[in-house]
Formats: sequence, C-alpha cells, structure tokens
Amino acid sequence: METEFAIIGGGIVGLSLAYGLLRRGKTVCVLDEGDGAFRASRGNFGLVWVQSKGLHQPAYAQWTRASARAYRSFADEIETVSDLPLNLQQDGGYIIHMSEDSLDADRKLYEGLRSRLGGDYPFEVMGHNALKTEEPNIGPKVAGALYCKEDGHVNPLRLLRGLTVAVRHLGGTLRTGHKVTDITPQGEEFSITAEDAAPITAEKVVLAAGLGAMSLGPKLGFKTPIRPQQGQILITEKLPKLMNRPNVEVRQVDEGGIQIGASSAEVGLNDREDVATIAGLAAHAVDMFPKLARARMLRSWAALRIMSPDGLPIYQRSTRYPGAYFVTCHSGITLAAAHAGVLGDWLTDAAEQPDVSAFGEDRFDV
Ligand SMILES: Cc1cc2nc3c(=O)[nH]c(=O)nc-3n(C[C@H](O)[C@H](O)[C@H](O)COP(=O)(O)OP(=O)(O)OC[C@H]3O[C@@H](n4cnc5c(N)ncnc54)[C@H](O)[C@@H]3O)c2cc1C
Repeated sequence: METEFAIIGGGIVGLSLAYGLLRRGKTVCVLDEGDGAFRASRGNFGLVWVQSKGLHQPAYAQWTRASARAYRSFADEIETVSDLPLNLQQDGGYIIHMSEDSLDADRKLYEGLRSRLGGDYPFEVMGHNALKTEEPNIGPKVAGALYCKEDGHVNPLRLLRGLTVAVRHLGGTLRTGHKVTDITPQGEEFSITAEDAAPITAEKVVLAAGLGAMSLGPKLGFKTPIRPQQGQILITEKLPKLMNRPNVEVRQVDEGGIQIGASSAEVGLNDREDVATIAGLAAHAVDMFPKLARARMLRSWAALRIMSPDGLPIYQRSTRYPGAYFVTCHSGITLAAAHAGVLGDWLTDAAEQPDVSAFGEDRFDV
C-alpha cells in the first residue's frame, strides 16, 4: 500500500492529526498496535483545560488557548460526521484550593503569566463564599478556587470513537492490531513494517505512538525524551446534579457519575491502580464535596501519561529524515482541536505556518 501520510498510533493524537490531514485532501493510513499497548486516550480525565497550562512558557498557554477556542467547531464537525454527542461543555472551570496559602501562591503565578502575556490571560480568584454561590455543594474546608472561563470538558471516549468514525468517513485507512516494528527511510519515502500486515510505503510518516514512540523514535533520528507518568481515576454511580462546572480534580460527567482524579506517580510502565491512592483521591473529593461521602464508587483505573521533561508538547521534524515528524503531548484531549487544525499546516508545509518553535526537541539540549 502507498499513502501520502502514515501515522503511527491511533490514539487521540494520531486520530486528530489524521482527521486534519484528510480534511486537507491528503491520503492517510493510521496504524495502531491495539489493546496490548498503553493507551492514555482510553484512560484520561476528559478536561479541555486552559488554566495552569504554560505558567512558565507563555507559548504553551497561547497554544492551549487557541485549541480551546477552536474546540467548539471541531467538536461540532466530529458530532455531525459521527452522529455521536461529545457533550462538550466550555462554560468555565475551577482549580479548587483547600488553603488560602496555596490559592495565593497560584494567584501570583497566574498574575506573572498574565503580565508576560500583556494582560491577556483570563482568570478570577474566588473566595469560599463566591465559589459557594456558584457551587452550593462545596464543603467548609474549601478555601476558594481559581476560575477560568475558557476551561471545559468533553466525553473523551466518545471523542475518540467519533474521530475514528470521522477518519474512516473521510476515506482514511485505519489498521488496528498491527504493531509497527520498523520504519526504514528509503530515499524520499519510508517503508513501514507492522506485525501481520503488508508493508506500507509513505511519503511522510508521523510518529504519534504515545509511549510506543520511545522505541521507534531513534530509528527516525528523534531523541524522544518522554516517560510514563501514572494517573489514577475513579468514578461513582450516577448522581443528581452535584456541580455545575468541572474542577481539575473532580467533575460530573454527562451521564451523571462523578469522576475523581487524577493522581500522578513516577512508577515506570505500571498501569495498575492501588487502594491507597484511590482512597486518598476519594477522601480529598469528599473534603471538596461532602455529599460524595454517600456515593458508591463504581470503577477505578490507572493510565499512563506521556510526559516530556518540561510537560510541554513535542513537535519535531526529523533533521535527518525531513519527511518524518514526532508529535506527542501531555494534554491530547485539550490539544485535539489544534492538532486537527493548524498543526496540519505544519505537517503539510502550508504557506502559512503555526509557530511551533517553542516545542522542538532541541529545547532539551544542554
Ligand atoms: C490519568 C490521565 C488523565 C488525563 N487527563 C487529561 C485531561 O483531562 N485532558 C487532557 O487534555 N489530557 C489528559 N490526559 C492526557 C491524554 O490522555 C493524552 O495526552 C493523550 O491520550 C495522548 O494520546 P496519544 O494518542 O499520544 O497516546 P495514546 O492514547 O497512548 O495512544 C498511542 C497509540 O499508539 C499506539 N502504538 C504504540 N506503539 C505502537 C506501535 N509500535 N505501532 C503501532 N501503534 C502503536 C497504541 O496502540 C496507542 O493506541 C490524561 C492522561 C492520563 C493518563
């Protein structure tokens, strides 16, 4: 098979990129390893989140905000093609604080970012009483929250499914259950070998394999400085409306359950949840929303984030093989609209290019 673009990885990042390329009229084949792989896209928290992103790198704050702004039309398109409601809500969100000190410390960081962005960074500090007006079910231990009107959430599994349908609808080829084992540059093209599949020849190859990029990246001249970071999440039974907006650690999903998370731990390639972590998450959620003390937990799970050393995305074109690209990020749900949108201009050498200069691998060179 021959294709203009081969995308290695059919998670949210690979599918978002594939969708954007197909919309630009390119031929695209997505190869995905399948259920045996680590798949962050199936275990995440579903936030489309702006606040706290890029506190030390304004370019990342801007990039995130641009994706959040593009999200509504992106989600509308996927809903129309797939006929799946994504339940995108972008009505603002909170980071709740349990002490005045931590609220104040974060406020100072946000103010620092705001001044670096020339005043254009929306957030509000809400004390306990102001927050209680918006969220009557918070508990007495809550000190307050930082609120950003650009924050929101989406049903991440439906987004993944919707993108799968949309990619197929636009004529993309999606091969699942085929782990890519080798990528060989051949002149201006690439020959891709996958388990149980005929080889593929591609003009361009995009490595969007999440943690799978660690082994494939060096073949294409990438350093792939990424690591797994474990996050654990739990979800309760369906409950009557308990909160109006998502908070970074607890949100009510469209079906009614309360999703609580996510922890973060450096435990290598370990995606097993443990009782101590889940109990800690639950106790903290009850402090924030005491009514949760009576809720029944339905399910818990762990998944692995794909982390770069500074937590920012990596968008790198291979210097050795210019038709090869490496794309990875910490927040693939939030950035899906940017990946389907302007990042396609970068991948296709369009006349107008997004500025991704802050996100190259060379920033890690000492
Ligand atoms: C607990 C947790 C909470 C999170 N919460 C949020 C959130 O609220 N908002 C947000 O924006 N982001 C969140 N994230 C991050 C988000 O889930 C990830 O950024 C995103 O899923 C990464 O997508 P991906 O496609 O790069 O990786 P993955 O979903 O891991 O997909 C990689 C794909 O590559 C395939 N693959 C791997 N190796 C190969 C190979 N050799 N050949 C072929 N295919 C291969 C795998 O099969 C897999 O499907 C969270 C992550 C975690 C773990």
